Amino acid sequence: MLIERRVKILNINGLHARPATRFAEMANKFNSDIFVRTEEKEEVNGKSIIDLLTLGAKRGTEILITADGEDEEIALDVLEGLVNDRFNEDNMETRKGIAVAPGVVIKEAFVLESEGYRIPRHLIKEDEIDKEISRLEEATSSAWKEIEKLEESVSKNLGSQIGSIFATHKLMLQDKQLMREFSERVQDNNLSAEYAVTLVLRVYIRKFENVDDPYLSARVGDIYDIEKRLLRNLLGEKREELKNLTEEVIVVAHDLSPSQIASLDTTRVRGFVTDIGSRNSHSAIVARALGIPAVVGLGTATVDIFGGDRVIIDGNRGVVIVRPDEKTIKEYQSIEKDFYVFEEKLSSEFKDLPAVTLDGREVSILGNIEFPRDIGPSVSQGATGIGLYRTEFLYLGSKDTPTEEDHFNAYTQSIQELGNKPIIIRTVDLGGDKFFLANNNKEINPFLGCRSIRYCLENPKIFKSQLRAILRASATGNVKILFPMISSLQELRQAKDFVKEVMEEMNQEGIDFDEKIEIGIMIEVPSAAMVADDLAKEVDFFSIGTNDLIQYTLAVDRSNDKVAHLYSPAHPAILRLLKMIIKAAEENNIKIGICGEMGGEIEYTILLLGLGLREFSVAPAMIIPEVKKIIRSVTYERAKEVAETACSYNDPAETTEYLRNIAREIIPELIY
Ligand code: PEP
Ligand code: MG
Repeated sequence: MLIERRVKILNINGLHARPATRFAEMANKFNSDIFVRTEEKEEVNGKSIIDLLTLGAKRGTEILITADGEDEEIALDVLEGLVNDRFNEDNMETRKGIAVAPGVVIKEAFVLESEGYRIPRHLIKEDEIDKEISRLEEATSSAWKEIEKLEESVSKNLGSQIGSIFATHKLMLQDKQLMREFSERVQDNNLSAEYAVTLVLRVYIRKFENVDDPYLSARVGDIYDIEKRLLRNLLGEKREELKNLTEEVIVVAHDLSPSQIASLDTTRVRGFVTDIGSRNSHSAIVARALGIPAVVGLGTATVDIFGGDRVIIDGNRGVVIVRPDEKTIKEYQSIEKDFYVFEEKLSSEFKDLPAVTLDGREVSILGNIEFPRDIGPSVSQGATGIGLYRTEFLYLGSKDTPTEEDHFNAYTQSIQELGNKPIIIRTVDLGGDKFFLANNNKEINPFLGCRSIRYCLENPKIFKSQLRAILRASATGNVKILFPMISSLQELRQAKDFVKEVMEEMNQEGIDFDEKIEIGIMIEVPSAAMVADDLAKEVDFFSIGTNDLIQYTLAVDRSNDKVAHLYSPAHPAILRLLKMIIKAAEENNIKIGICGEMGGEIEYTILLLGLGLREFSVAPAMIIPEVKKIIRSVTYERAKEVAETACSYNDPAETTEYLRNIAREIIPELIY
């Protein structure tokens, strides 16, 4: 049966001599007849270099490859892969994504598969075939044994019906035809064992997916399972996992969760790029905190970049250069150096100076942290305390619920690092894009679901154990409590009742705590902004969470790159809400600060100052000297004028441009 595949030529020089040779060489390894044609040109023999060259296929041309014969599926898979791999040519390519973490880095790529490791897709030499076949046999037999054990234990614990699922897996691994196909790919096409397993199984997956029978199409999951098991056995010790890196790399992934990013070893992972993502997701926030350059929303980075490719990340401009030429590398080496020299200079000049305007208005600059280890860098860059401790990071990546002691240890460690500087501990903000491994309760719309304070109110045990830990820690340092995502007065009262209850219990147990501990709330939901005047009467302080306030007000998912262009801090609706919130705090004489990312984006510093804010909690640490420089360059009077003008525009793009021009005059090096 003749089958066909459409594929676009991606390499810069098109199907010229070298790529055509590679294509024909590969096509000749299959028994099927192979033909290639384009929209304009007639079909040619895919096994003939000369014929292929007559197509004159340039970059961007779509070619149609057809194959007819016993190995047609696999032939098309391999040839399609070759074209998509740009015939393994080294072409420099510049891609534009979303800049999420500043800095410049040049390193080799480490491309993460969805399983968290890399599948080597390489060809082997003739004299390696026997070794590769025995690797295949060993992997198959180990996989079979593993499944047998699994079947036994599952049958024992959950019954033989459930256990029998694994009998199917065992039968698949005993299937002679499947094993023959694996070996043929190694023997006839010189594919590595891993490559052969993936290719052969992907053909079956495709076949099952196209079957119009729900039972059979559900078998796809079984095949994926077999594939993973075989690959794990084949790669074994050699498996290139993130946690076993031996060299400095740039990680290329489809997406990385906040907990995956938080656990990156930054002595090895020097930057990362992803296919999807946005500037204000929690993943991006953690990336910035790690201090490694990152660009997200690149679309097809995992397809276009290969493990070992040299990659440049320019996290300031959101640019990624793949396979750069020597001239570009030199140019970026010098940009990299200049950037770090500039940051160093700014830091040494401003980190120890107070944040005070030219006319004497004092401002506090605090740090946002995810882990106690982030305190050191913040303080050394001049933070006078911690304005937001995102404690949910104690949960992310952990299989077990953190205990009261886990919380308490993290808080006391933070307090020790801070001395008598204040720390605002936010109760856990789980849900949304931050999931606790032990909580499998996935919701359809998690940002609008049981997130944050709602999760805590529904899980009193978890909430109370955290509150106890915070209160115990309050006896040893300058601690404040912050509730996230409050959306009504009733919710606030419920949360405060928990604090009261825990305090009473602790009093009975004779445990020390700060009886006058300040309680504040995040204003990050439009409903809270609208009733801020009522809320202000029942709390000690507000902290504005612009990340969520923007997402919920503008109906723009903060993690979705498709709508990232609509996510605008300068939208008039946001500016009006900010004014309302600040007014409510001022009229009720309570403190107010900002801890959303907007507070650390230097184009907005003068606007926020002019709107009346005197407390900015920002991350990463390197931003602190930048914000200080801006504040120290203007008068409060001028900032008020700027805010008034900014609020008079009705186009967010115009507002942003106006503010960027002003900031650029102060720090031209950082406004691109
Ligand atoms: C915010 O929403 O602005 C905020 C600071 O909280 P988070 O980013 O953790 O949701
Ligand atoms: Mg928030």
